[in-house]
Amino acid sequence: MSDAAAAAEAANAYQFKAEIKQLLHILVHSLYQDREIFLRELVSNASDALTRFHFESLTNRDVLDPEAELAIRIEVPEVEEGQPKRIVIKDSGLGMTAEELVQNLGTIAQSGARQFLEKLGEAKSESNGMDADSVIGQFGVGFYSVFMVADEVQVVSRSHRLDAEAAMWISDGGDSFQVRPADKSDRGTEIHVTLKKDAEEFASEWKLRQIIKKHSDFVRYPIYVGEEQANRQESLWRKRPSDVEAEAYKQFYQQMTMDFEEPLATIHFSSDLPVNVRALLFVPAKREPGILASRKEPGVMLYSHNVLIQDYCTDLLPSWLGFVDGVVDSEDLPLNVSRETVQNNRLMSQLGRTIRKRVLRELGQLAEKEPEKYAGFWREFSRVLKEGLATDMDPQAKEDILPLLRYHSSADETALTSLDSYIERMPADQEAIYYVLGDSVRSVANSPHLDPFKARNLEVLYWTEPLDTFMATVITEYKDKPIKNVDDADIELPEQPEEEKEEEETAVSDKAYNLFVGRCVTTLGDRVKEVRTSKVLKSSPVRLVAPDGTPNREMDRIQRFLNQNYEVPQRIMELNRRHPLVLDLANLTEKQPDSDLINLAIEQLYASALVQEGLHPNPAEMLPRIQQLLEMAAKAVNK
Ligand code: ADP
Repeated sequence: MSDAAAAAEAANAYQFKAEIKQLLHILVHSLYQDREIFLRELVSNASDALTRFHFESLTNRDVLDPEAELAIRIEVPEVEEGQPKRIVIKDSGLGMTAEELVQNLGTIAQSGARQFLEKLGEAKSESNGMDADSVIGQFGVGFYSVFMVADEVQVVSRSHRLDAEAAMWISDGGDSFQVRPADKSDRGTEIHVTLKKDAEEFASEWKLRQIIKKHSDFVRYPIYVGEEQANRQESLWRKRPSDVEAEAYKQFYQQMTMDFEEPLATIHFSSDLPVNVRALLFVPAKREPGILASRKEPGVMLYSHNVLIQDYCTDLLPSWLGFVDGVVDSEDLPLNVSRETVQNNRLMSQLGRTIRKRVLRELGQLAEKEPEKYAGFWREFSRVLKEGLATDMDPQAKEDILPLLRYHSSADETALTSLDSYIERMPADQEAIYYVLGDSVRSVANSPHLDPFKARNLEVLYWTEPLDTFMATVITEYKDKPIKNVDDADIELPEQPEEEKEEEETAVSDKAYNLFVGRCVTTLGDRVKEVRTSKVLKSSPVRLVAPDGTPNREMDRIQRFLNQNYEVPQRIMELNRRHPLVLDLANLTEKQPDSDLINLAIEQLYASALVQEGLHPNPAEMLPRIQQLLEMAAKAVNK
């Protein structure tokens, strides 16, 4: 090379960013078995470029080759004996200028590759046997995966912009790449792949067709391999549900979203009244899309007459159903609708109502017929639905979401129950739906507030998620039944059979008991509003209740979550006069008023009750006291 040529060459050379060097190094030396996924990644990039062009052309007339077919073409050029084999992947998409080539194929901007590297780092540091190969398989790595099969890659591209010139990007997967002017007259991008010796198998039309069928069958543009179209490119949603096999739905979903999990539910329906609609919708198995998921935003794809109008349409379903993905196609929508008209269209609201109803019906049926699957749904999406309850001011939202709620309850701590089945189990004289708030099923199951409910065999729902605390202020009734917190001091419960009340109140004298009550008052001071005898406690020695009319007492718990300078609210401490611990402490107060045990026990009973209520600012503070109590107990037993 002459000096002048070398200088020109150097001027066009760029170094890859460090992360890409690292990624390329892994890919070039990868022994990954399923290298064929490189084609899926290139086709997916081509399909994205076509969609972006499609949207650009809706508003911009000044584009190159406006009439060109939106398609992907894969070719296997003839090469001479002994020369390396090649394949070419072309699209008529948006194309890239020289600057865009440098930008997009030189850095890892928003792409999955960075996350791939992070994941790989984690995998290594956890040394859990995961290696580059398994991580590639799980996530795919976009464009750069081509270096698993290529010795050299040339990307020749011409932007849709009329004033742009064609450019070429070249790299052998080492530390640098070059960008220079190129010769290409039509719009779009061509990826020229020079195959590695051990990847020659991919230079076969038959093989390429097979890979397309497997990974890219439902790509929405035709993919030609040679002369023939290789993908089904089918509008599955326009077929009759009875003509579609379950496997096809799954493949369609996975190719559409690049989510490797199966969807939790598939909803395929059509209707002509009140509005024409063909829809194929999915409830994903996970709330968070996978790292390389190709559809990351909420919303469904909106089509009219089989033409894509909006890629992420969020105007059809409320935000709390934003996880629903798929296609909605309506022939009633005019083809040339703009974004604004999409938003303010009466048709759109009819369409929205129709699909909302179907989705809700499907979720209802899932709960009924496949409760385990529904439990999985609930685990993933309960938060979204509860947030919907708190934020969606449309009264319809409450009506729609409340039947979807599920809770553990005192009737069955392992299964989940709905409000409806709770109501079905209610005895005729039960007037309200009851819940207990707390931090976990375990802690609420032992809540002292449950004593009177257990005694009367009344079921109580366990509200144990942080958001349930907010729900207490949002959900106040269902099907005309008030929904009440069991810590409500003035809940009226049916009278109890008298017998149990008899044998009591003799074991401790009024004098001793009153002395103990007095000691509680002096020990706890301002921290409690009042100390009084409980009418309802059975197996618990004490509980804390809010004074009548405390506004939004649930907010105290929220304060604890949110606020560092949280102040423990003043509650009423109720004593169970018949509890053996209370009896013993009362007797002790009478006979040995100087015993240290009394004050320690009172402090600890109060602290335990705060924990029970989810109001304790720092349960670890209890530890020194518990230690002291243990020491006393050990000493006493030894005597
Ligand atoms: P990702 O697709 O996850 O963004 P890639 O590394 O696969 O990451 O691609 C990087 C970027 O290069 C893409 O975001 C896109 O802007 C651009 N690109 C890749 N392939 C094409 C193509 N065929 N046509 C136009 N742009 C492309």
